[in-house]
Amino acid sequence: MSATITRQIVRIDEDLCNGCGLCVSPCAEGAIEIVDGKAKVIREELCDGAGFCLGVCPTGALTLEMREAVPFDHDAAEPIIAEKKANYLAQHCFRCGVSEDDRPLLPVRTGGDSTWVCTKCIPALIHG
Ligand code: SF4
Repeated sequence: MSATITRQIVRIDEDLCNGCGLCVSPCAEGAIEIVDGKAKVIREELCDGAGFCLGVCPTGALTLEMREAVPFDHDAAEPIIAEKKANYLAQHCFRCGVSEDDRPLLPVRTGGDSTWVCTKCIPALIHG
């Protein structure tokens, strides 16, 4: 077991989590799984604390916190990232349908849904 350090890591509020699983796939390192109907950081060393999962959570159950945890382990995450890439499914902008292969997408909450929007459509969302 590695020594712990103070670092940023994902926090999951189990009271708010409804077990929908939307946070599982945005985590390239495979740190989050659904266990007994709730999202869990199954191995702290796989969570890099980047927070890409936060934007897709429909209930606000995911936040980032600074606390003692084992360091992020690049070597442990690498084979999981490679496996996930093999099963990669491109996401699409909910407004124009462009693929993330062609334009960067960002997670967005709109009308009670968690979805993706491309960088070209963001100004229209902001300014109407
Ligand atoms: S996206 Fe949010 S509500 Fe859904 S499983 Fe993950 S933490 Fe729970």
